[in-house]
Amino acid sequence: MKCVVCHGDDIEAREVNEELKVGSDIVFVPMSLPVCRTCGERYYDRRTIRFLEEVEEKLKGGKLTLHQIGKVLACD
Ligand SMILES: [Zn+2]
Repeated sequence: MKCVVCHGDDIEAREVNEELKVGSDIVFVPMSLPVCRTCGERYYDRRTIRFLEEVEEKLKGGKLTLHQIGKVLACD
């Protein structure tokens, strides 16, 4: 598999935190994804996208237990 962005062939599965935005909050979802080691492009297959959509639905329904690890701040 070649990277569609940089055409490198150094793609490996990595543990990453996908970021889902829920209102003004950002939720990290730890998961394993193929990532290009050269340019950092992440690759999502249909199953991964489906999984993230399910997590998003559960988040909106308040069905997941979350803990705070940081704050989201905005400038005035
Ligand atoms: Zn790449």
